[in-house]
Amino acid sequence: MSRQRAKRVIGNWKMHGRLAENEALLRSVVKDAASLSGGVHVGVCVPSPYLAQVQALLGGTRVGYGVQDISAHTHGAYTGEVAAEMAIDFGATLAIVGHSERRAYHRESAELVATKTRRALQAGLTPIVCIGETLEEREAGATEAVVGAQLDAVLALLSADEAARIVVAYEPVWAIGTGLSATSAQAQAVHAFLRARLAAKGAAVGDVPLLYGGSVKPENAEELFRQKDIDGGLIGGASLKSKDFLAICEAA
Ligand code: PGA
Repeated sequence: MSRQRAKRVIGNWKMHGRLAENEALLRSVVKDAASLSGGVHVGVCVPSPYLAQVQALLGGTRVGYGVQDISAHTHGAYTGEVAAEMAIDFGATLAIVGHSERRAYHRESAELVATKTRRALQAGLTPIVCIGETLEEREAGATEAVVGAQLDAVLALLSADEAARIVVAYEPVWAIGTGLSATSAQAQAVHAFLRARLAAKGAAVGDVPLLYGGSVKPENAEELFRQKDIDGGLIGGASLKSKDFLAICEAA
């Protein structure tokens, strides 16, 4: 089970950044990424209006990029939505789906998240499927039931070949933006559970990248990334500071 998987560090900018600060951040991410060991995959998921800027600054570099959500539809009367193909027009290769902020504030159901995941794959984007439990759910001992159900809803809609092309991010809701990361042991335990669940869908599915997200910072990244089933991180707040983001990438 302990095959070597490449490490990935993906920034989730959320709704932060404007043209001028994006440019400074992107330029330093490109410069920093050039100094990293070849094995680490680095990417950023940005607000869609900045895709053209990101394409201009990241195109042809080793830093991948994408969006933070996509529509479940290909096109049509869906005011405000962005189709996977539109992101692809600007060179995007990644799409976060099912982030807990979308599940909570936009009432995205497990089924909708699954549909978006399939849509991303069909369009040619790599979906980063976010799952995670709330503090109440953890305290009630329901962590595995909750994340298992979130993952199952996605796997139910995919063939084994499709499922082998996703990335999963375990992000405990209580750890996101709170400064309170899961301990490496807590995270590893959930990752091992998810790994087994994925492997039940097919051997190659068991090898998909499993990222941890939730208050990853330079101080805790190395310890988290050293865990057997943690293949990198999805980084919110710390991805907005080039120094911190670089330190996290170096820890991978
Ligand atoms: P955080 O966010 O690193 O700021 O906790 C992670 C995320 O929501 O993806």
